[in-house]
Formats: sequence, C-alpha cells, structure tokens
Amino acid sequence: MSWEPRPVPEISPETAPYWAAAAEGRLLLCECQDCDLQYYYPRARCPDCLSGNVEWIDAAGTGTVYAYTATEIVSGWPEEHLPLVLAYVELDEGPRMLTDVVDCGPDEVEVGSSVEVTFVDTDDPDVAIPVFELRR
Ligand SMILES: [Zn+2]
Repeated sequence: MSWEPRPVPEISPETAPYWAAAAEGRLLLCECQDCDLQYYYPRARCPDCLSGNVEWIDAAGTGTVYAYTATEIVSGWPEEHLPLVLAYVELDEGPRMLTDVVDCGPDEVEVGSSVEVTFVDTDDPDVAIPVFELRR
C-alpha cells in the first residue's frame, strides 16, 4: 500500500476556467444559451442539444446527497483523507456531481443530507478540487 498526494486533474483548454474558478473558491456550471440546460461536468457542447453556445455560470454551491458509499482503504489515496465518502451530490441547480463528502464519518451521511461546497488545495496552486461538507 502506498499513500500519494491527492491526484490532480488533467487540465484541458475546455475545462481550464472551471479549475481556475475552483482555485478561487467558486464552483462553476455550464449553461446552454440555446436550451437553458445547466449541466456538469464542464464541456464545450451542450449534452442535450449539442449547441456550442454555452456560458459559465456560478453555482450556489449547495445541494443534497443523492447517493453515497464509503471505503476505508483506497490504494494511492492520501491516508489523511480516509475513510473516503464518495457521493453523488445533486446541486440546487439540478446537475449531479460525483464528488466526495469531507470532514465527516460515513455514519454521519445520509441520502438527502444537506451539503455545501468547499475546496481541497492540490500541489498545483492553480487547481483546487471541489468537494462537499455537511451543512450542520
Ligand atoms: Zn442545449
């Protein structure tokens, strides 16, 4: 078993604004200007109507746990971030994010738990990872 720093995402020109905003503590979604769909994950074309007329919008950063699982051991994952509570969070805007819920034990999380975004710094100062914590 080896413990590594938290993995840093591969940044593409398509997703760079998303990661840069996260490093500033802002969670972005994409909004299609033709069909009004707000979606996640970030991509240049609307997944519904395939329009390229897409803009970034600020998400409120709040949502609820749609589904979750927990694991005590993940090879290569930073030990201080275990156990890992992996969750689909349904944002108040509607899209669901695959993410993790931090600073809580697995037995504190339930489907429907109210959560809000926070950000984990990485070794790259221009990249932070949006994760969620319980709203208490
Ligand atoms: Zn669209």
